[in-house]
Amino acid sequence: MHCNLINGEWRGGQPAIVNRNPSDLDDVVGEYASAGADDMREAVAAARAAFPAWSRSTPQQRADILDAAGSEILARKIELGTLLAREEGKTLPEAIGEVARAGQIFKFFAGEALRAQGELVDSVRPGVEVLISREPVGVVGLITPWNFPIAIPAWKAAPALAFGNTVVMKPAELVPGSAWALADILQRAGLPAGVFNLVMGSGRVLGPALLDAGIDALSFTGSQATGERLAADCAARGIKVQLEMGGKNPLVVADDAKLEQAVECALNGAFYSTGQRCTASSRLIVCSGIHDQFVGRLMERTAALRVGNALAAETQIGPVASESQLAGNLGYVEQGLAEGASLLCGGERLQLATRGYYQSPALFAGCTPQMAISREEIFGPVAAVLRADDYEHALALANDTPFGLASGICTQSLALATHFRRNSEAGMVMVNLPTAGVDYHVPFGGRKGSSHGPREQGRYAAEFYTTVKTAYIGL
Ligand code: NAD
Repeated sequence: MHCNLINGEWRGGQPAIVNRNPSDLDDVVGEYASAGADDMREAVAAARAAFPAWSRSTPQQRADILDAAGSEILARKIELGTLLAREEGKTLPEAIGEVARAGQIFKFFAGEALRAQGELVDSVRPGVEVLISREPVGVVGLITPWNFPIAIPAWKAAPALAFGNTVVMKPAELVPGSAWALADILQRAGLPAGVFNLVMGSGRVLGPALLDAGIDALSFTGSQATGERLAADCAARGIKVQLEMGGKNPLVVADDAKLEQAVECALNGAFYSTGQRCTASSRLIVCSGIHDQFVGRLMERTAALRVGNALAAETQIGPVASESQLAGNLGYVEQGLAEGASLLCGGERLQLATRGYYQSPALFAGCTPQMAISREEIFGPVAAVLRADDYEHALALANDTPFGLASGICTQSLALATHFRRNSEAGMVMVNLPTAGVDYHVPFGGRKGSSHGPREQGRYAAEFYTTVKTAYIGL
C-alpha cells in the first residue's frame, strides 16, 4: 500500500483508497492509505515545525531541490504519464504532456527561487530609506481536483516551496497515484522532514481538519460549491485563500472565421481530455452567417472521434473519470433534450472491450441561454451550440454567465479579435485557439465565479505564496 508522507515518514492508514482505471475497471492502479483528522493535525504540526529552518534556507538550496524534482519528472514522463492515463483516463499523449508540464513548472520555479526579490525605495522623508521585501506566508494547505492529477499539485507545490513555505497537500480521492509519485520525488530530491506532507483521503474529513489545524494559507482548485464553502471557512479563521473553480467557457465563431480552424478549436476545446478541463469550450456561440456550415462540419468531426481505452494508440477521447461524473453527464444530456435542444450526435454510454466509463461526445444545437446545458458546468464531453445574430450578440451571450475563466474567438479580423480581448469578462482570452491549453510560465485564473484571490503560475504566483514587508530605515 502507498502511504501518506507526514514529517518525512511514510505512514499507513485505513481504509485503503482503491485506485481503479476508468478505462478498465478490472485494472487496480494501486492502493493508497486513507488518512484521518489526526494524521492531518500531525502533518500541519510537522509543517509548522519545519517552517523556520526552511524559510531561512538559501535560494540555492531550494532551487537545487526543485530543479532535481523537475529533472526526475521529465526523465520519467512516459512512466508517470502512463500512471496518470491509467488513473484519470486522459489519453496517453495528453497524460505525458501533463507530466512534462509538471516537470517544466518545477524547473521554472527553481529559477524563481533565485530571482532577486524586493525593492529599495527613497522615502518621502529625509534620512529614511524604504526596503520592500517578500517573505513566505508560512504553512500552506493545498487541495487539488482529479482532472489534472500532477500538473495542479505541481503548480501549487512548486511556488509554495520555492518561496520558502512548508506544505500540506490533500489530493483528490480519485487520483492519489500521481500525487503520491510527486511526494516521493520531492522527498528523494532532498526536502527536509516536514517541509512537504502528503495527506490522502476524504475531502469532507480532511478539509475541515486542515483548516482547524492552523494553516496560514490555502490554495484550492475544484468545484464552485466546495470552493465557496472553504472561502467562508478561511475568512472566519483569517486564512489567506486562493480558489480556482469551474468554468462555462464560450468560444465565439465569427462570420469571417476560417471554417476548418474554428471547427478544430471547438472540437479540441470541447471534447479533448474528455471535456474534463475547467477551460473546456462548453458553449459554442456561432454567428448566423457561418452557423449551419460550422455545425454541419463539427457534427461530422465529433461523430468521427474515436472513444476508447486511454492507453490505446488510436484513442482520441478517453473514458469519463468516474461513475458519478458519467451519470452527471448523461443526466445533462437528458435535461438538454427535455428543454428542447437538438442532440446532433453522441451522448450515450458506450460498451467497449474493457469495462469502463465510456461516453460518446455529445453535441447539442439550438440551445438557448436559459437551458441548464448552456449555463451549468457539466465537466464532460457535452457541448452546446448557441446561434448569435451577429458579433455583438455573440459577445453578450459569451459574457452572460456566472463564470469567467477562459473565452475564445475565431475570426480573421484584428478589430473583432481586439474588441473581444478587451471586452470578454474572462481571465484568459484565446484568439483562433481552443479555450483550453495554456502555457506554464504566465498567469492562470479567472473572474466572477471562477476564481478568487491572486492568480496562479508564472511570476504572478508570488502574490499568493509570499507576503510583503515594508521596512523603514533611518540613516
Ligand atoms: P471537488 O470540489 O469535488 O473536489 C476538489 C478537492 O476538494 C478534492 O481534493 C476533494 O477531496 C476536496 N474536497 C471535497 N470536499 C471538501 C471539503 N468539504 N473541504 C475541503 N476539501 C474538500 O472538485 P472535483 O470534482 O475534484 O474537480 C472538478 C472541479 O474542479 C470542476 O468544477 C472544475 O471546473 C474544477 N477545476 C478548476 C480548475 C481551475 O483552475 N479553475 C482546474 C481544474 C478543475
